[in-house]
Amino acid sequence: MPNQYDSFDAFGFKPQILRGVTEAGFVTPSPIQAEAIPHILEGRDLIGQAQTGTGKTAAFGLPTMNRIERFDRVELLVITPTRELATQVSDELFKLGRFAGVRTVTVYGGQSSYRQVDLISRGAQLVVATPGRLLDLLSSGRLKNFSPSIVILDEADEMLDMGFLDDIKEIFKFLPAERQTLMFSATMPQPIKELASKILRDPVSIKVTPAEETANKDIFQQYYVIEEHERDDAILRLFDAEEPTKSIIFTRTKKEAERLSTMLIAKGYGAKGLHGDMEQKSREEVIKGFKSNQLDILVATDVAARGLDVKDVSHVFNYHIPFDPESYVHRIGRTGRAGKKGIAVTLVTPLEYKELQRIKKIAGANIKMEQVPTLGDVKKAHSGKLVSAILNARLSDEARQLLTVLEEQIDAQQLALKALSLLIEKQNISGPDSIGVNPQRLEKLLNDRRDRAPKRGGGKGGYSKFRKPYGGSGGGSRGYGSNDGYRGGGGSRSRRDDR
Ligand code: ADP
Ligand code: MG
Repeated sequence: MPNQYDSFDAFGFKPQILRGVTEAGFVTPSPIQAEAIPHILEGRDLIGQAQTGTGKTAAFGLPTMNRIERFDRVELLVITPTRELATQVSDELFKLGRFAGVRTVTVYGGQSSYRQVDLISRGAQLVVATPGRLLDLLSSGRLKNFSPSIVILDEADEMLDMGFLDDIKEIFKFLPAERQTLMFSATMPQPIKELASKILRDPVSIKVTPAEETANKDIFQQYYVIEEHERDDAILRLFDAEEPTKSIIFTRTKKEAERLSTMLIAKGYGAKGLHGDMEQKSREEVIKGFKSNQLDILVATDVAARGLDVKDVSHVFNYHIPFDPESYVHRIGRTGRAGKKGIAVTLVTPLEYKELQRIKKIAGANIKMEQVPTLGDVKKAHSGKLVSAILNARLSDEARQLLTVLEEQIDAQQLALKALSLLIEKQNISGPDSIGVNPQRLEKLLNDRRDRAPKRGGGKGGYSKFRKPYGGSGGGSRGYGSNDGYRGGGGSRSRRDDR
């Protein structure tokens, strides 16, 4: 839907709020901002559904901060699922609201609640809180005269995933009945819809679908068909070939995140895992390291990386195909932010190929098939770069000094050869020559599967052969009898506990 809000001036914000927008460098409202802000300014309740990275914080932050009338008490309450997100939202709202004099206090577990309460009582208009600590403070009666007129639930589906639903319901018992309530969520599972019907009053619903997201245009999406056992080799080869500056690799399980990050570290990469089993403190350290470029690679599970706003991620890798189209969109949304280009890479086995087609269709994604470069290709590309690096190298005094030492021991040709060999060895490019399934073989594998798959409406033959990986001739090909346990009933089990 075209919208007349193509600049922030059109909303009629106070000058102090507009100044925050300008200083933050925002020029054009994002789709969710253009659609949500006018309703929020009018005082309506609202459900906003949009993927990560679409600017939801400013979508609720700007109009609500604009609506603050009393500065002698807490007027706005934002509830976010994790401490990381609470900090992130606080930072963003501070940035946008500082000229309007909005004072923010962040409330979460693991830090002195005394200090948090004290800061609030000394005059804050905005509180950003995680559910556990907030409920503690409310139920123990330590927040005096706490009666925010606007309440915002951010990343509601994530609260559900993390088991905070009951806490949320309990929290609302302490909040004034007369209030404006906003709820933001990337997805709308049933329990969230039910919650919405309880806490919101006659809400406007806004949904920004991925197709409308401008961010997606900046993400170049590709997939590689590989065999199950080739995942690590493929990742390493793609790193050698693409030389990503900053990347996130998504895995399905915590264990996988651990194993993969350990493997990458052993290969000399600056990688760390990020998953739900880690202590809050070490998670924060990892995120900080990644944000400040001390780490180049984050190996993360979906839940751990949700909502995190890290700039300049050049590549997102899906080590396994994600469970559903929504997580695909979430994951790749970590790159191609703020008008920058990003690359999203997905590894799929022939068995997962159909799943990929489904994701492609539902997410409306334009994902192109590519071949993993061969060892020869990559070496050739690197040699090319080495040649130009050598031709363009600046001469250092240390090099001149070393040369005088070496000249006495070795002739120039030998010296050059040895120096080059050292440089090439340092590039450390290895692995099998060719990785992955080429299009002809893929076609054949897919055809074989079609032949063997149960036919609808009384197909005969072929059925029992396909059913059991250990039966019949099908057992021979590697991708088939793989350990992709998530596909059956077992999958949904591992979804929550395992991440
Ligand atoms: P979400 O909550 O939807 O995941 P965020 O609110 O965290 O997204 O915003 C993602 C990033 O985009 C932030 O760095 C934010 O400062 C930036 N941003 C938000 N709105 C705009 C805008 N209109 N123009 C430019 N950058 C924006
Ligand atoms: Mg957000």
